[in-house]
Amino acid sequence: MSNKYSASRFSCRSSCLQKYKLSYIKGIKIEGRDFDVQQKGLAFHKIAEETSIDDTLPQITERGIATIAEHTFDKEKYPVERALPVFYKWWQRYVVDLVKNQHYELFKEHWENSSIAGEPLCGAIDVLCFKGPVIKTAELNDNLIDLGNGLAQVKYEFIQGETVTDEETGEKFTDNSKYRDFIKDKEIVSKAQVRVYDYKTGSSVHLEGYENQLLLYGYMIGKQLGYSAQDIIENFKFYLFYPLVGIKTRMATDEKIEARMLKDVIEYKFSAEDYNNTLLEFERAIKDDKTRDWDAMDPKMNANISFSCGYCQFCGHPDLCPLSAASGLEFPDTAKVIYPESE
Ligand code: SF4
Repeated sequence: MSNKYSASRFSCRSSCLQKYKLSYIKGIKIEGRDFDVQQKGLAFHKIAEETSIDDTLPQITERGIATIAEHTFDKEKYPVERALPVFYKWWQRYVVDLVKNQHYELFKEHWENSSIAGEPLCGAIDVLCFKGPVIKTAELNDNLIDLGNGLAQVKYEFIQGETVTDEETGEKFTDNSKYRDFIKDKEIVSKAQVRVYDYKTGSSVHLEGYENQLLLYGYMIGKQLGYSAQDIIENFKFYLFYPLVGIKTRMATDEKIEARMLKDVIEYKFSAEDYNNTLLEFERAIKDDKTRDWDAMDPKMNANISFSCGYCQFCGHPDLCPLSAASGLEFPDTAKVIYPESE
């Protein structure tokens, strides 16, 4: 059983328990089965990950076209290159401005390692803009960004601490006790400011189904800082950005691109009650994972046929998902089931 929890693991668990069992409990993988929707998403994520603060639109476009060519999906159905001007506008407004003018640090495809209910938890944040807590200090060091007038901002690398390996279990976890000791006797002028952005490459802008993912990112970063739910609500912002929504339409003018970009961004705001309830839900799921008799589970009773079967690796396999196979969906001959070595 894979021992790390993540937002996608929780999301899989709530959407189809059969898929969850196969992927996360049994560790079964499928090779040789690609889906267009995933490939176009991977192409966009790679383009975004390679984008730097000083990139121009022609530079992003040139690299983007090469990246798109490397991915196998229907390029006429999904003209991903048309999203690049929208992405560039978004990048300038939501990322470049923070980094160049507001002292934010930028992290792309940023991994957080944390824990929940005593279990390891991880997540890759597409874009994290982080402005550390501002403290009063006369002594500067490599962990601080000098803001002048006796003020300094703590770097995220220091707050995150070091990755340590538990000698008994081999489990990796982060230890930020040095930061916690450092900050104990400091006068804090302002709390850390966090902006989390997650790219979604679907065809309609919506928040539903992604709230828990964003909240979990807030939890992991907040935990590093020792922040309460209220601190997170007051100082963090969470967004989804859907750059591919308008790619079917050519946007001829700058104004149209700008208008499209603004429609493609959605912010998630939550209450302390939402936050606590969601974490409780995750804790219950972890407990249930440990006590459930997975081998006795009926694969048909716990499968959930929905639109997401359209990109489920197990779809149509007569043994792994008999319900989808019985409904006429096919598992391609070219795909291969990989069972973990212990199976
Ligand atoms: S095909 Fe659908 S029902 Fe079957 S495991 Fe995948 S998501 Fe679940």
